[in-house]
Amino acid sequence: MIETQDYKVYSLHNFDQIPQINQYLNADQIRAIEVVGHVLPFKVNNYVIDELINWENVPHDPLFILTFPQKDMLEKEHYELVDQALKNEIPLSDLRKIVNDIRTELNPNPAGQQDHNVPIMDGQRLHGVQHKYDQTLLFFPSHGQTCHAYCTFCFRWPQFIGDKNLKFAQNETSDAVKYLKRHPKITDILFTGGDPMTMTASRLKAYIEPFLDPELEHIQTIRIGTKSLSYWPYRYINDKDSEGILELFERIVKAGKHLAFMAHLNHPAELKTEAVKIAIKNIKKAGVEIRTQSPIMNHINNKAWIWRDMWNTQVKLGLIPYYMFIARDTGAQHYFSVPLVKAWQIYKDAYRQVSGIARTVRGPSMSAHPGKIEIVGPTTIDGDEVLTLNFIQGRNSDWVKRPFFAEYDEKAKWLDDLKPAFGKNKFFFETELIDDVKLN
Ligand SMILES: *Cc1c(COP(=O)(O)O)cnc(C)c1O
Ligand code: SF4
Repeated sequence: MIETQDYKVYSLHNFDQIPQINQYLNADQIRAIEVVGHVLPFKVNNYVIDELINWENVPHDPLFILTFPQKDMLEKEHYELVDQALKNEIPLSDLRKIVNDIRTELNPNPAGQQDHNVPIMDGQRLHGVQHKYDQTLLFFPSHGQTCHAYCTFCFRWPQFIGDKNLKFAQNETSDAVKYLKRHPKITDILFTGGDPMTMTASRLKAYIEPFLDPELEHIQTIRIGTKSLSYWPYRYINDKDSEGILELFERIVKAGKHLAFMAHLNHPAELKTEAVKIAIKNIKKAGVEIRTQSPIMNHINNKAWIWRDMWNTQVKLGLIPYYMFIARDTGAQHYFSVPLVKAWQIYKDAYRQVSGIARTVRGPSMSAHPGKIEIVGPTTIDGDEVLTLNFIQGRNSDWVKRPFFAEYDEKAKWLDDLKPAFGKNKFFFETELIDDVKLN
């Protein structure tokens, strides 16, 4: 039996009330949370604090690093700027300017999300949706733009700091439904955020119900991207409206849709509690399939054994490993990023140690402007050391599954760092990417 839990949430303004903070952290570490927390979003709840973080292992604990700002997440000069500003108690408006300037330098909108993926219907840009790959429409419910806790690596971080220009949101589904009716090739709608599972059951129902319209028969899969399974599993056990949530899941399945619950899980420690196991059972009982994904990150999960254990534990609990991502080029990327070759090595070392049942996972994959690009691995062709790459998804679907080659580079961390192999000056897709206005 899991008892009903009080939900306690902490951020920059009250984290000094977390008992473990004063017990386990020194003054420097507490100061770092305060300084970095002014720039990157910070929010954590009592479940993460009491059940997931191993405080004996702090500051190295991966779940601590995943949710608490760390000094090195800011470049030294940025850190000192904010540290000084706070010490000098400068006016709030001046502090805001300093913070905003730093945020602007942290590439708040990677992979051209803001400009390139917003579809146009009847001459109007459709806010709150993105359509990049043929089959899948992304939908950002405006009430789901927060999370139970914030991950320090998150590429969605601008959405949490209240900059309206950077948010994608809409509280209306009608435009999206209309768009889907005109695009019969779309088979998937992906509810994302933030975390849509922070919404109440009734609100979530109001968002999802319109997509069950019989005229949208071509929509076969409804996906929900969420971190709630591991940040607040009580959502599926005994929260106020847990029953409502599970009934909604059943309703979607009964309407003939595949409901794909895309769980963001970054470390096997997230699967160790009794609560998460019960939550998984309840979700699966509703007829829902749970798939999992995570970026590979320094300080959190940059070891093959972590991925091996994570995938194995997932399979044992009935989850389907789906993606390993490369950390995006945004926010604290310098802190988290693992070079592409290293990521491939870890992926390979983990992959070879798990059975075929866990090899449903794909990656490591970069969600870059042209598409999702898989690091297939290094090889030598005619004496040239190269890195083989492959589109898992392409802005143009014709690029998918066409292997291509970059010069071998152990330091490269993102697509921009790679050079085409064999002395070529462009990758095959680059000409088209620039020329084809349709792609915008
Ligand atoms: C990853 C992603 C999808 C989904 O891709 P799948 O390979 O079908 O999981 C859809 N749209 C965007 C913009 C994405 O980044
Ligand atoms: S739960 Fe997902 S959207 Fe929310 S902070 Fe973490 S990575 Fe970002």
